[in-house]
Amino acid sequence: MPELPEVETIRRDLTSRILNKTLNEISVLHKNFLTKSKISLTELLTLKGKKLLSLERKGKYLFLNFEEKTLIFHLGLTGALILDLHPIPENLKKHHLLTMTFEQNTLHYIDIRKFGKIYLIDSLKISFFLNRIGPDALQIEFEKFRELLQKHNLKIKTLLLNQRLISGLGNIYTDEVLFRAKINPERLSNTLSEEEIKSLYEIMKSLLKEAILLRGSSVKNYVDGEGKRGKFQERHLVYGKKGRPCPECGTPLQYKKINQRGTVFCPNCQK
Ligand SMILES: [Zn+2]
Repeated sequence: MPELPEVETIRRDLTSRILNKTLNEISVLHKNFLTKSKISLTELLTLKGKKLLSLERKGKYLFLNFEEKTLIFHLGLTGALILDLHPIPENLKKHHLLTMTFEQNTLHYIDIRKFGKIYLIDSLKISFFLNRIGPDALQIEFEKFRELLQKHNLKIKTLLLNQRLISGLGNIYTDEVLFRAKINPERLSNTLSEEEIKSLYEIMKSLLKEAILLRGSSVKNYVDGEGKRGKFQERHLVYGKKGRPCPECGTPLQYKKINQRGTVFCPNCQK
């Protein structure tokens, strides 16, 4: 699923093309999409004629800030926001849910598994929405991060995936970060030493930045705002590699479900 680096890549792509443009047309191609998002067509159409003032991201949420209203996307497992995709490939047509035309550019929302969602919120009430999302993994300050780990007695992987505690990391980046930090995903967060917390924090930030530079990970069908695949999957060390030798020590990488989430780690390197 698109995680922080993928959503950030899309945000940057869209910003360079549709910022300050007026939304002239909206078409909903799949009525169930709105029903599931609990938005009426009339409500959505109030965005017509409004200018897109900024695009922001917190965790895995993308915020399109229009005059007076904010349209929020959560891409779920397979959501994609692609500009000017023409023609729409035959195999994607039935997953094409929404188009929004901004002057010269058209933004298409495509979602194969249809777990993605949109929210339409009065800009004045946006802080209520933002406060339900934990601090962004790329923005969180060290003191906050340390406090978060110390006050919870959760498996570190479970904590890092909890979007209300810290937002943006999913299964790919938690496995990659914990491997590089040499921390076992089942360690309880409040048993990490000061040194381990520091290293985890620094590795998390630098890994996310590196993944953004490489325009995200295309493991299944993620593509950026221009419909192109990312390249960070080429640098994955453990994600999706169960049974293969650990790149550090050669021990076969282990697979385990932790809170229902498939996890790959090295039982020898990660303590
Ligand atoms: Zn190892």
